[in-house]
Amino acid sequence: MNIHEYQAKELFEQYGVPVPAGKAVQNEADFASAIDSLPDGAVVVKSQIHAGGRGKGTFTDGFQGGVKVLESKDQAAGIAAKMLNNILVTHQTGPEGRKVQTVYFTEASDIEKEYYLAILMDRATGGPVIIASTEGGVDIEEVAASTPEKITTVKIDPAIGLQAYQMREVAFGLGFSGDQLKQMGKILSGLYKMFWEKDCNMVEINPLITTPEGQIMALDAKVNFDSNGIFRHPDILDLRDLNEEDPKEIEASKFSLSYIALDGNIACMVNGAGLAMATMDIIHHFGGEPANFLDVGGGATEENVTAAFRIILSDPNVEGILVNIFGGIMKCDVIARGVIAAAKNVEIKVPLVVRLEGTNVEEGKRLLNESGLAITSADSLSDAAQKIVKEVEAAKS
Ligand code: GDP
Ligand code: MG
Repeated sequence: MNIHEYQAKELFEQYGVPVPAGKAVQNEADFASAIDSLPDGAVVVKSQIHAGGRGKGTFTDGFQGGVKVLESKDQAAGIAAKMLNNILVTHQTGPEGRKVQTVYFTEASDIEKEYYLAILMDRATGGPVIIASTEGGVDIEEVAASTPEKITTVKIDPAIGLQAYQMREVAFGLGFSGDQLKQMGKILSGLYKMFWEKDCNMVEINPLITTPEGQIMALDAKVNFDSNGIFRHPDILDLRDLNEEDPKEIEASKFSLSYIALDGNIACMVNGAGLAMATMDIIHHFGGEPANFLDVGGGATEENVTAAFRIILSDPNVEGILVNIFGGIMKCDVIARGVIAAAKNVEIKVPLVVRLEGTNVEEGKRLLNESGLAITSADSLSDAAQKIVKEVEAAKS
């Protein structure tokens, strides 16, 4: 789960990581009081969306920049009014962009130098890793590709936590000494504590800055939480912004379906994440493009399968559906009944190919054949993929 920059910065403050003063608002009526609450002088107006690259983004009405640094407070309300309810497109949002529903006003900082600092869960080592770079404000992927020597990586043993020598390694890697070494120690220990206590997958500060007075602080903040641990943090769950999530994915989560919308035209309904991936791969192999990832889980009920069909069909890009179920704990005849009931409940106007394998497969196939529904039955994974790709093509011509 992701949160907004202003929410992440509130957490940073709780953990002793310095951030500029700021105020987030959702309504134009609150702009003036939010701006008044900041110290006089330069301010930054920041669009709050769950995507990076806002500074270089463009709104669909042509207005440039989702982050604006202004010399005085005078224009702040006017600029914020242009951002609020406007659609911001950045390299991370995709061409459809995201609607800005919160604007964050912050005190502007003088920047001496920009750095990059992140803590991530590293799958290779199975533990947290700190990534720091003297090249801040730009995409870390770019730095990693062109100047990897400018990145310091420190792996943390989760059993013993972040050690003082590791903090020094990061701070030295960024070229800090003296008082700034102390500041970095406080920032790193606070950030790591937050990462650990709140079950984060990622905490990223880009840029972390030094001011001409020598203060180090976080100018931007991106935090992602492990959804598997979120039940332990009701306070974090309260920060969830449903406006930032695909309505299809929200609906799917209500039925315990793992659903992720994709760009293709062939919807997949599969049990098990591995089989779902294999199904997407094989659709692609035979020239189709998957419209989604969908794992209905091991104990899918008729209700879940019906919900899955409804969610799949609410995607206007879907031109065909491939159901690929391995009956293990779940028996094929039960699945077939679920598919038939769902197909009767939800009007399906696109080709539907069903492949069943496993326990009671013959009974399942018989039920599908005798259902009177326009269901094409398939034998193997590749047979199923070829059939759905062919039927979708045929339906077009
Ligand atoms: P992003 O584009 O979504 O990563 O948003 P950021 O919060 O990182 O802001 C984009 C850029 O605006 C930063 O990399 C900074 O260069 C600049 N910026 C943001 N806040 C300030 C500020 O207080 N003072 C100055 N001088 N620049 C800022
Ligand atoms: Mg940034």
